Amino acid sequence: MASVCAFCGARASRRCASCNSVSYCSGEHQKEHWNVHQQTCPKFKIIHGSNLGKGFVATRDLKACTIVLDEEPVAVGPSESPRLSCLTCGLADESSLRCTRCEWPVCSLKCENHPMHADNECQIFSSGKITSDPVFTWGYFAKLVMGIRVCLLKKNEPQMFQQVLELCSEFSLPNDETAGPIEICSHMRELLARVQGLNIASQELAKLFRIFQINCFSGLIEEEPTSCPAG
Ligand SMILES: [Zn+2]
Ligand SMILES: [Zn+2]
Ligand SMILES: [Zn+2]
Ligand SMILES: [Zn+2]
Repeated sequence: MASVCAFCGARASRRCASCNSVSYCSGEHQKEHWNVHQQTCPKFKIIHGSNLGKGFVATRDLKACTIVLDEEPVAVGPSESPRLSCLTCGLADESSLRCTRCEWPVCSLKCENHPMHADNECQIFSSGKITSDPVFTWGYFAKLVMGIRVCLLKKNEPQMFQQVLELCSEFSLPNDETAGPIEICSHMRELLARVQGLNIASQELAKLFRIFQINCFSGLIEEEPTSCPAG
């Protein structure tokens, strides 16, 4: 397969070692073309390490604060802090406002009607009142809401749901929780039974919770990216 130099079009004899998808006639032309190619040449690759599971590894030296990956999360769950917080934006529940349909904490009308809440758990919670007070902790409910949002993808965005199921679920965590998920899983199955046309087996749910434990991370919702401390 004859390939041509991305810089001059001559017959190529070498490839970019990080991505293997662009060819060059010489080292000089590879250097000349780097300014253009570095914008599309992947900055990382995914490896399956023996003791650390799946992970990102840089394909070259990267400057501090380089954006390596920029994508929307599949689902966003409420803050797992011990304090009640708005189910949509995660603000602490200082106003004590409640959704007029499901009676769960939301900080404003805008958050009440946001699809993240209104099209997801709100429909389930308002179809038979479950309120957020409780025998259970807020952290428990935050997990429950997150689980519901992901499970509803099976009905609303099946392809996305399939992608979630392909995430790593088999890695043993340092402090493996086993008791918690069983309780939440059965509670969730009970709630999800209210959704017409959604069928989630208990094994599938248990797998989803392992996927959450491994792949979820918490962060602040910010309007503007913070500036890089390293400059
Ligand atoms: Zn060339
Ligand atoms: Zn490349
Ligand atoms: Zn809010
Ligand atoms: Zn609601």
